[in-house]
Amino acid sequence: MKISVLQYAFVSVLLPVASLGSVLPRTATLIPAPREARVTGGECVAVKPPRLVKTPGIPSEGYELSITTNGITIRHSDDAGAYYANMTLFHSGRYDPKAKCKTYPCMEIRDWPQFKWRGVHVDDSRHFLGKDTILRIIEQMSWFKFNVLHWHLIDDQFWPLEIPGYPELQNYGGECLVDGQKRRYRGEKVKPGVYTANDVKEIVAYAKERHVTVVPEVEFPGHAVCALCAYPDFCCDPQHILKRGRDPSNFDGGGIGVFCIGNPEVIRFLERTLDHVCEIFPSEVIHIGGDECPRNFWEKCPKCQAFVKREGLSGVEQIQPWVTRHFTEYLAKKGRRAIGWDEIFIESKNRNVTVRNTKITSLLPKTTIGMCYREQGAGVAAANQGYDIVMTPHQYTYFDYRQGLAEDPFLYFGGARLPLARVYRFDPLAGIDAAARPRVVGGQCCNWTSHTFGRFDLEWKLWPRGFALAEVLWTYPDPAKRDFAEFAKRAAEYRRRLIAAHVNCAPLK
Ligand SMILES: [Zn+2]
Repeated sequence: MKISVLQYAFVSVLLPVASLGSVLPRTATLIPAPREARVTGGECVAVKPPRLVKTPGIPSEGYELSITTNGITIRHSDDAGAYYANMTLFHSGRYDPKAKCKTYPCMEIRDWPQFKWRGVHVDDSRHFLGKDTILRIIEQMSWFKFNVLHWHLIDDQFWPLEIPGYPELQNYGGECLVDGQKRRYRGEKVKPGVYTANDVKEIVAYAKERHVTVVPEVEFPGHAVCALCAYPDFCCDPQHILKRGRDPSNFDGGGIGVFCIGNPEVIRFLERTLDHVCEIFPSEVIHIGGDECPRNFWEKCPKCQAFVKREGLSGVEQIQPWVTRHFTEYLAKKGRRAIGWDEIFIESKNRNVTVRNTKITSLLPKTTIGMCYREQGAGVAAANQGYDIVMTPHQYTYFDYRQGLAEDPFLYFGGARLPLARVYRFDPLAGIDAAARPRVVGGQCCNWTSHTFGRFDLEWKLWPRGFALAEVLWTYPDPAKRDFAEFAKRAAEYRRRLIAAHVNCAPLK
């Protein structure tokens, strides 16, 4: 296991502030809390590194950590388990200046995650975050045992990922409408950065060392404004794009830019894009977007109408399900699995219907994973019908919603509120039939950046709410017995630690 410089920095600042031991037993400061922990008394002066023992039968990513006065033993069945045991050790130790080494309270811990998808989503299209910020967020995620970075790379406002053969993509966009105003990067119209294949490889490798999988998202068939500005022929009506000067900031948000699926060049473009994405991202799961895709352009487009006839579809309501099926199967041939926002389940002329009040399209392969963001009931319906799902209902997980703080210098999306206590109430399994519970592979927070301009406000919005989500997804404390007051004490301590590590963590209230 490699430990980065940043991790050492984090650990070293943890140690002096671990004096909280006088208030709480030190095991009680951990976030996420271990599933089972027993303080056995006494202290271990860690002069030797922990003994690692590979032990079959311990759940994936889980570990057993035994700290005695004679030394430390970690039992694990995979590398991730050993990594998380070490992370728990880092969070539990403190430096003893007399002994000139770290000391740990003697304890026995058995720990494993409830969910295998413990995600943080970041939007890199509406405001470009850049490689350094992405690496920092990955580092911070790993401290709290998050293991999926859902990297929303592509959207209406900008396409920051280079795709071979399509050099125009980065020549358009890069501005974001914020409350109706054009927001310009660094105050002037300059191109935001671009991620090359080498940048991606560096990010993926950095994440891998921390047991974080980077799941890229290529958004289609909607949210395509930037790509349509670069290549107007990819739109059902190129005039629609040309009239607005091929400038994404002249389009009001999502829902207008939709690929012309009747144009074979579009299918080829999306296939080439996924070819490249699969080449540079090793993740088994690839996100193919699928949200907020209106059908009105397809209704009026001769190419799309001909496509409906040629493919024997019932109408434009089956175009998006066709797209999802085509690309799910395309990815499956490469050994990958598609995930999409919950509209991929529906077959309707009205994109606003939910899974809960309509039947799931028969065109969707069962291997497709749903990411349920509009309401939890959609995820419940899909899981109960046999689909794997990631729960990210906006009411609990959209961290671009206001935190309800007494003082808050940053901008947020609209008037919705998501205070820390509400995140701690999130139950990804609420309403799921017992038999369908394994279908819920996990959850994540979503950090949309229409009102987030860079690292400082991203961190502020992510922490401390990320502490609550980390504990929900790893420990899954019994929803009926969650004790927010107790959690808040630990969160306050972790806030001090993050600030000491130069992370811009918001107050708790
Ligand atoms: Zn069309």
